[in-house]
Amino acid sequence: RTSGKQHPRRIALFGGSFDPIHSGHLAVARAADRRFNFDEMQFIPASRPPHKLKQHLAPFPHRFAMVALACTEHPHFVPSLAEAGEDFSGTQLHYSVDTVRYFRHAYNEPGDRIFFIIGADAFLDIPMWKEYETLLRLCDFIIANRPGIRLEALRLVIPPHLHGGPDAKRGKDEDAVAHGSPVVARLQKTTVYLLENVSSEVSATEIRRRASRGQSIHGMVSARVEEYILKQELYR
Ligand code: ATP
Repeated sequence: RTSGKQHPRRIALFGGSFDPIHSGHLAVARAADRRFNFDEMQFIPASRPPHKLKQHLAPFPHRFAMVALACTEHPHFVPSLAEAGEDFSGTQLHYSVDTVRYFRHAYNEPGDRIFFIIGADAFLDIPMWKEYETLLRLCDFIIANRPGIRLEALRLVIPPHLHGGPDAKRGKDEDAVAHGSPVVARLQKTTVYLLENVSSEVSATEIRRRASRGQSIHGMVSARVEEYILKQELYR
């Protein structure tokens, strides 16, 4: 799809358990898309390595199917198999830093930019991630704010030595493009932006809980995803 695109390209990566993908995720995606004007947004269901088996995490094929269904209404939302592994089972260990490297390699024309979309709650945990300093240097970040998390707390997550001054290598239009999204931090080659007022109360945990009790999840997920959950009897 991108082969015919004009360069440079703006690619968003949105990873998560997506168990299931819900209206909160889609609201964040649409808001980020409006503000940053992406050519493509890749939705990347996370793999589930055997040693990290969470009781409730649905198998990768179900989570991928729901992501694919949720992407159907949006021309440039793309379901990604980046963490599916060679056998497509989604049971091999994948780290975000490697996933971003993979996309950097795939989108390597001059000026191409990769943006990593993440919720503020997840961003606070980022120091636990593999090579997180490298990850912060590899691509721009867009943090979807969550209730009760202040900009200063997000800034404190970034080690002081990563911060950089204004960087001549950045596109001149960067701030215009960010279009009012506050900058959490400018690093040497990348920027961490905050996406405000997009967070909703919807969570996958709540959806699974409701589905397990046979309660309606109407409106919390897209109609196609709702139908899929019912037909497959997920979370029962
Ligand atoms: P769970 O309830 O199982 O923990 P979740 O609803 O938080 O799941 P994930 O798939 O873990 O969903 O989330 C993927 C990303 O989306 C994370 O970065 C998370 O912070 C963010 N996110 C999830 N729900 C919301 C929401 N309602 N508003 C904004 N960001 C969200």
